[in-house]
Amino acid sequence: TGLAGNGRRPRLLLMGQRRSGKSSISSVVFHKMSPTETLFLESTTRIQKDPIHSFMDFQVWDFPGQLNFLDPTFDFDHIFGELGALIWVIDAQDEYLDPLSRLHATIIAIQRSYPAINIEVFIHKVDGLSDEYKLDTQRDIMQRTQDELSDNGLDNVQVSYHLTSIYDHSIFEAFSKVIQKLIPQLETLENLLNVLCSNSGIEKAFLFDVMSKIYIATDSSPVDVQSYEICSDYIDVIVDVSEIYGYDRKQPAEITDAAHPVVPGAEDEEEQTAEASSIIRLQNGMVLYLREINKYLALICLMRKEGIEKKGLVDFNVQVFQNALQRVFEVGR
Ligand code: GDP
Repeated sequence: TGLAGNGRRPRLLLMGQRRSGKSSISSVVFHKMSPTETLFLESTTRIQKDPIHSFMDFQVWDFPGQLNFLDPTFDFDHIFGELGALIWVIDAQDEYLDPLSRLHATIIAIQRSYPAINIEVFIHKVDGLSDEYKLDTQRDIMQRTQDELSDNGLDNVQVSYHLTSIYDHSIFEAFSKVIQKLIPQLETLENLLNVLCSNSGIEKAFLFDVMSKIYIATDSSPVDVQSYEICSDYIDVIVDVSEIYGYDRKQPAEITDAAHPVVPGAEDEEEQTAEASSIIRLQNGMVLYLREINKYLALICLMRKEGIEKKGLVDFNVQVFQNALQRVFEVGR
């Protein structure tokens, strides 16, 4: 299904020097690996094609840094054709001038044939750096890149920079921003989420890609890290529970959190949804509401416990939202 609009799923490509952290990033973001486990990852020595079953079918390719992909024998079109974004990983804890010049060469090379590819630079492993040093590094990298591109007559190339680390949520946040640029219907999604929030007493709503825990859209209230974290942890719980107690999709099913089940009387509900849904009450008086939207996406809402007293209303509004989303993606196709 063409969630991304034209029926094709945009591809992402992860590149950068050896040991810059590419395998770690794709393991942590797409394969649920814990950051400390990456210490024992073998560095990539060959091109890895890593198909990911996410709502956008990320093709995260892991390039070994020592390989010269600008070599004429290299299949340039095969790599860069249909690419949505090029993510270039730079190790901020290491000497970066050489990696930077490779980035510049790459941008210059792909600009000729594929000017539409978004260039996203991840200034990575910033967990070990002071705030001041982080910003200095970012400024330096931006300046050098801009100068180099200008010298080559490429003044209008848009390059985005993100400070990232696998030890906190910055890597997910960065991916979310990268992905959101590749969704043509983003504005519509945000509007739908805004309407949903204001009509249902919801404080914050995220549309998550379940596999990667990247959010592809949220309502326009500011994102605070804590709400994002709790929603993303919630997905882990749900994924674990559904992996263990997997259910047959042909039958209506409700997943409720085992620890704090709020069973909405599964039998007496007139119309049951085939999608999983779950509610969890937090000790601070907040409630998390999850509804599976389709194979890849889940809606997670954060609301006060008073809000969920009108659960029927919330359910109804979420259903309306879900139907609208379906239509948005259908029209996009
Ligand atoms: P690759 O060769 O680009 O695939 O790099 P790896 O993924 O093998 O990572 C090289 C090393 O960097 C590993 O020991 C990782 O644990 C470490 N690393 C990756 N990301 C981070 C990060 O965000 N912070 C820190 N401090 N270390 C990282």
